[in-house]
Amino acid sequence: MLINKISLRGLTTVVLVYMVFAFGWWAVQLWRENDRVFKLSEELLERKYGGPNRGINLTELRATAEYKELIDRQEKHQRMIFAEGVFFTLCLGFGLYVINRAAKREVVLARQRRNFLLSITHELKSPIASLRLTMETLSRRTLNRDQMETLCNNGLRDATRLQNLVEDLLLAARLEDNWSPHPEPVDLLQIAQDCVINLKTRFPKTNINIDIPDAFSTILADKSGMTAVVQNLLENAVKYSPSGTPVQLSVRQIQGKTQLVVSDEGVGIPNSEKLAIFDKFYRIGNEETRQTTGTGLGLYIVKQVVEAHHGKITVTDNRPAGSIFTVEI
Ligand code: ADP
Repeated sequence: MLINKISLRGLTTVVLVYMVFAFGWWAVQLWRENDRVFKLSEELLERKYGGPNRGINLTELRATAEYKELIDRQEKHQRMIFAEGVFFTLCLGFGLYVINRAAKREVVLARQRRNFLLSITHELKSPIASLRLTMETLSRRTLNRDQMETLCNNGLRDATRLQNLVEDLLLAARLEDNWSPHPEPVDLLQIAQDCVINLKTRFPKTNINIDIPDAFSTILADKSGMTAVVQNLLENAVKYSPSGTPVQLSVRQIQGKTQLVVSDEGVGIPNSEKLAIFDKFYRIGNEETRQTTGTGLGLYIVKQVVEAHHGKITVTDNRPAGSIFTVEI
């Protein structure tokens, strides 16, 4: 896209400089014209009052009501030119700022859309190809029990991956549409355990430690929403950590609020990315060189669901490495 190639800031600066110069030039012309009109009017007055018969001198002329009115008019025109100049420059600056911001946003959105298309294609292609291969092997070969089990587990892993993807896409679409939660008693421990089973099919070395006291396990919230929150946070913690690294999920009650914390010892998140990761389709780094799978929808969904419950989500650094996501509802 052309707008990507040309530096947006450079283009805006050139346009701004041109417009300021052009406008400045017109303002100077107008100012001069105003002075010229004043001088001509002054001359006319001098001729009118300073003729041979009337003999009025310059000091007397400047004391006349007509001359004072002329001065007033000239000053009024000067003030008008100045005020309009300032107003126009402010409008111009504001207009360019708005255009620049919108164009920048458009570039970011275009990049995110492209990233999303690349990642979703990959996310769909690989489990489908893998499922095909599993089915072909199952149908063509005579296999022993162990081999069948391995293939079935692989098939199950791919199907789970596709199911998670479809659920994320559907939920993201619903969230766009003024989604509101349907509160019901939700057992966080049960959700967490189901998520761990689910994750183990894809990441067999998953090492998740769940610390949810019975007293805090059941909360009033939207079940599908909370499942998405726990699933996405746990999946990210596992995905962005070296295989087998411990992940901790704990739930506490603090000042009447439920606090759900997911911490990992993985790659961590730079401070400069801590806000952007919650944007739709946003993924850190470049899609062409990325190793991990994903669509950039997970944290967007988590944030939307949490905010729909009037809660908040924060991310901080873990020590010595990794991230801590804290959800407060
Ligand atoms: P996805 O995981 O599908 O890429 P998310 O919206 O879940 O999308 O996350 C957005 C980005 O935030 C990820 O691409 C990743 O770079 C970063 N991220 C999320 N969770 C973690 C984590 N626990 N550790 C390090 N990076 C993370």
